[in-house]
Amino acid sequence: MTQINRRSLLAGAGLAAATLPVAALAKAPPAGKQAAGVYRYKLGDYEMTALYDGVWNRAIDDQFVRNVAFPQVQKALSDSFLPIDKLPIPFTTLLVNTGARLVLLDTGTAGQIPGAASGSMPENLAAAGVAPAAIDTIVISHFHPDHINGIKTKDDELVFPNAEILVPAPEWAYWMDDAKLSTAPQGLKGNFLNVRRVFKGVKVQQFEPGTEVAPGVASIAAYGHTPGHTAFAVASGSQSMLVLSDVTSHPWLFLRNPEWQPAFDMDGNLAVDTRRRLLDRAAADRMLVQGYHFPFPASGHVTKSGANYDFVPVMWQPAI
Ligand SMILES: [Zn+2]
Repeated sequence: MTQINRRSLLAGAGLAAATLPVAALAKAPPAGKQAAGVYRYKLGDYEMTALYDGVWNRAIDDQFVRNVAFPQVQKALSDSFLPIDKLPIPFTTLLVNTGARLVLLDTGTAGQIPGAASGSMPENLAAAGVAPAAIDTIVISHFHPDHINGIKTKDDELVFPNAEILVPAPEWAYWMDDAKLSTAPQGLKGNFLNVRRVFKGVKVQQFEPGTEVAPGVASIAAYGHTPGHTAFAVASGSQSMLVLSDVTSHPWLFLRNPEWQPAFDMDGNLAVDTRRRLLDRAAADRMLVQGYHFPFPASGHVTKSGANYDFVPVMWQPAI
């Protein structure tokens, strides 16, 4: 009987490696990329599809959280197994299929956030088997570029040619105000100009936060992150969920530390009040939530302990 031991195995492997061309050893070349970023789940009779648009590894410094010393922020990052000098900010849009209508909540970046590896939402929509022309309604939460830029291609073409586009009225009033543009700090002017670029020649319908924007989709005033920032409650049958938009961005920083005021919350105090109001409701009602900047598929539940919250991501469900 042939003796097999570790030494003879290694010797045999060495012989094979020495005599075979390298390519013959590689059964499959590494893919080097992920497969499609699509995650589906049911909410009552509705089918929800989370569509990944990419991630921005945003460099951060002591200006990132206004009201906390930077070492505390770095510790929170480290405690979450994240790098301490940049924050991964993923983007995930949500498609609601009511059975009668396809409603898209926010549109992604169109790959137009400098430094971000993003813009994959249309690719993932295709992987989900949905044509852009099939989208009936687009509902926008607020006018930051990572939420509205996906309305148009880089060449100014409409990406979703048949969709009505609904926007929060207070958001429109703020960003389209020429007086606000002229007095805006330099850092904010780009956002004003981007809003005007995206909506130029585009027909929109304004809605008042608090009203229903599509069957089973209610808008909720969630001001603070921007002046007209809006969240959504989606309900079908006996189930409902809360779409937080940017009520809180990175969960392991700003759920665990709801009082922290990131630089991109325009009215920090109001954003904290809004965060507490909606997170309290999500935790008390054990509601499923979706967060635009949560780790893909960007949905899960919120727990509350004392004055702070935490995030429990959903388990991957193989069956819908
Ligand atoms: Zn955002």
